[in-house]
Amino acid sequence: MTFKELEIIDPILRSLQEKGYTQPTPIQEQSIPILLSGKDLLGCAQTGTGKTAAFSIPILQNIYLNTSSDHQSRRRRKPGLKALIVTPTRELAIQIGESLTDYGKFTGIRNTVIFGGVKQGAQTQALQRGTDILVATPGRLLDLINQGFISLGEIEYFVLDEADRMLDMGFIHDVKKIINFLPVKRQSLFFSATMAPEIVKLSGKILGGNPGKVSITPKQNTAEKVDQSVYFVDKKSKSKLLVHLMEENPEDSTLVFSRTKHGADKIVKMLKKAGINALAIHGNKSQGARQKALGDFKSGETSVLVATDIAARGIDVSGLGRVINYDLPNIPETYVHRIGRTGRANAEGTALSFCDVEEKPYLNDIQKLINQNIPVVKGHPFIPQVEAGVEINAKVTERPERERSRNSSKKSYSANRNRKYGNNRRSGN
Ligand code: AMP
Repeated sequence: MTFKELEIIDPILRSLQEKGYTQPTPIQEQSIPILLSGKDLLGCAQTGTGKTAAFSIPILQNIYLNTSSDHQSRRRRKPGLKALIVTPTRELAIQIGESLTDYGKFTGIRNTVIFGGVKQGAQTQALQRGTDILVATPGRLLDLINQGFISLGEIEYFVLDEADRMLDMGFIHDVKKIINFLPVKRQSLFFSATMAPEIVKLSGKILGGNPGKVSITPKQNTAEKVDQSVYFVDKKSKSKLLVHLMEENPEDSTLVFSRTKHGADKIVKMLKKAGINALAIHGNKSQGARQKALGDFKSGETSVLVATDIAARGIDVSGLGRVINYDLPNIPETYVHRIGRTGRANAEGTALSFCDVEEKPYLNDIQKLINQNIPVVKGHPFIPQVEAGVEINAKVTERPERERSRNSSKKSYSANRNRKYGNNRRSGN
């Protein structure tokens, strides 16, 4: 199957070619025909499946084809707000905006991204210049609607992205308020990684009677393409293990997860002390600092990004080599979301988890959820003495450490990375 066979129009095909997308991912193959036909869609899919393009491409195409009949006047037409995409975090909003800009490059269709935590001036100015598609987080959207900067009266396409996260983050009331501002006649798209009863109920409020359904992860399955391992390690040795792993494979771009903001800062400090270029991204950082950290990580200037779960939600870094769970999450679904950051689309990825004795119950819960045993790396330098004689609670499959180590040189990170990939390894996509 090709994008051309999905009847994607030339101006969008050109931009997809530029991005190097040779064929649609399964969610794109299934969703695009439904959306081009004008039907509502209920999509059960994790981020990393190509979901953004699955909804962005048909919306761009529908707006393009419905605005005017000839190419020239399409490009000259006045923008008017026709599509609204609501997503839980600012990082995700920015990324969706970037994707729309990329895919819509030859269509003349404009998008604007709004989110909280920054002054609203630049956003309201962009809105006043006119936009076709608005990507928004719920709080700022409601704020600007209430101040009269946004009217949703002409919305034809509405997307609720990552509905399960919206619920987790307490946005459900905001989402319900937003729905009340939308015209009844519209095409609605609803995406969620999980379909708990509350999510299904919410989808019923948004979608029309007979939506098309697409399910890419029927059960909450961990992405099979991600190579997972766990290291049993004492809490106090986790920092040494992290440095050791970074020194083994300095060329891997690494996203490290910390359960707390304070913990994330401590990890960055420790890595810097060891001569490893690292930055943190979490809710206590200013929007500017978060964007800079993400930009430096994407460009390859920083090899390690240390993030909390909410800050990292949905961030998309092409070519992300590995995820390290410095702390195991106490909510097993969070593990699935975390490791979904690597091994995106068709890429392979690695997810390593550090588990101290107190975290073993979390590991058990995770293994139950993903219905698989995560191989344990045996014989690494920081293995706790107690592991030798104590039976590990979790059922484990052994894996020798040397199998994990592909490069044991201890050269400087940036020198190694730049020699291998140049400075722009991830900038092109
Ligand atoms: P998403 O699930 O939307 O976060 O997308 C995950 C990643 O897959 C992003 O880096 C996209 O740029 C990439 N991607 C989306 N569609 C395709 C495709 N058809 N071929 C290759 N990569 C893709």
